[in-house]
Amino acid sequence: MAEIRLENLGHAYAGGAYALKPLTMTWADGQTYSLLGPSGCGKSTMLNIISGLLRPSEGRVLFDGQDVTARDTGQRNIAQVFQVPVIYRSMTVADNLAFPLVCRKVRPAEIARRVERIAERLGLAPMLRKPANSLTADQKQLVSLGRGLVRDDVSAILLDEPLTVIDPQMKFELRKILKQINEEYRLTMVLVTHDQNEAMTFAKTVIVMNHGEVIQAGSPKELFDRPATEYVGYFIGSPPMNYLAAVIDGDHARVEGTSLSVKLPSGTGPEGLKIGFRPEHLRRDQHGVALSGTVDRIWYEGGDEVLSLTTGPHSFRARVQAAASAPGQTLALHIPQESLRLYAQGQMIA
Ligand code: ADP
Ligand code: MG
Repeated sequence: MAEIRLENLGHAYAGGAYALKPLTMTWADGQTYSLLGPSGCGKSTMLNIISGLLRPSEGRVLFDGQDVTARDTGQRNIAQVFQVPVIYRSMTVADNLAFPLVCRKVRPAEIARRVERIAERLGLAPMLRKPANSLTADQKQLVSLGRGLVRDDVSAILLDEPLTVIDPQMKFELRKILKQINEEYRLTMVLVTHDQNEAMTFAKTVIVMNHGEVIQAGSPKELFDRPATEYVGYFIGSPPMNYLAAVIDGDHARVEGTSLSVKLPSGTGPEGLKIGFRPEHLRRDQHGVALSGTVDRIWYEGGDEVLSLTTGPHSFRARVQAAASAPGQTLALHIPQESLRLYAQGQMIA
């Protein structure tokens, strides 16, 4: 088990710009993390530096305070699972699971004991004698994972989009198994994904990345309630956060033609001011700040109506309990004052 610390860590592939801009952060021992961001934002680069597959062009990687930057993968006690399951197709499931232990010359009786235990844990016990090739994609991914877990010296499990090839209904199951393993073995787990749902349901801490940079790290609730930037507000939440242009009105920022206003922190300029709020925080009842709008479009999601509304030049979305709203109708909605956020040039300031 290990605390992972990245110190002034950055990476540029030969001759190129930063794929990962220099950053410092610490991942606590035994916790779950998701790295969330669009394709090409530097997630795999960060993960491969931690596992030792990639040597960073600058900075250090520390495990429990020990500098491992120059150590290669084999010396780091990290298990890594990739998008495409890595299995030895001609071997049985049991031999696949045993492989890392055979390589380390562990005694056969001990190997058998550990393989059985991990197979039991992952639900692979009935397939131990089958050729790995005959398994389904999600079972193969479990074998990849099992090969990491079978070692007793693993400090962390790094998963790089491991659920991409898995059926939606199996994803849920696999994510549950991963969480149980985290609780049972107290392993530090880092899951890379571009899927916000996956990130938010898996990890205690979600790290949002874009263009080689960490934009925000926080609990799923923090990211939902207080997105540090407009980007995070767009990227997390479905539909995304609403942002309406605001102007300075005395010591407040106000959305013209509405009652939405937020007190300005001192020294704030008028450039790029927006008031942000979640579609989920608008309500049909009469509490909070009024925000009326004319319904443009309606989608149904579960028992909710997702509405696209306009008021004057502004448009926004609301997620409210379904009540047979119709296009063209004007709805009187309300939002609690404490759900309003103020942004200046993309950054949350209040
Ligand atoms: P992600 O995993 O978030 O999709 P990557 O870490 O794979 O992103 O890539 C980050 C950036 O680095 C991208 O612009 C990608 O094109 C570039 N990149 C990744 N691998 C290499 C490589 N081996 N050589 C050069 N550039 C690379
Ligand atoms: Mg990647």
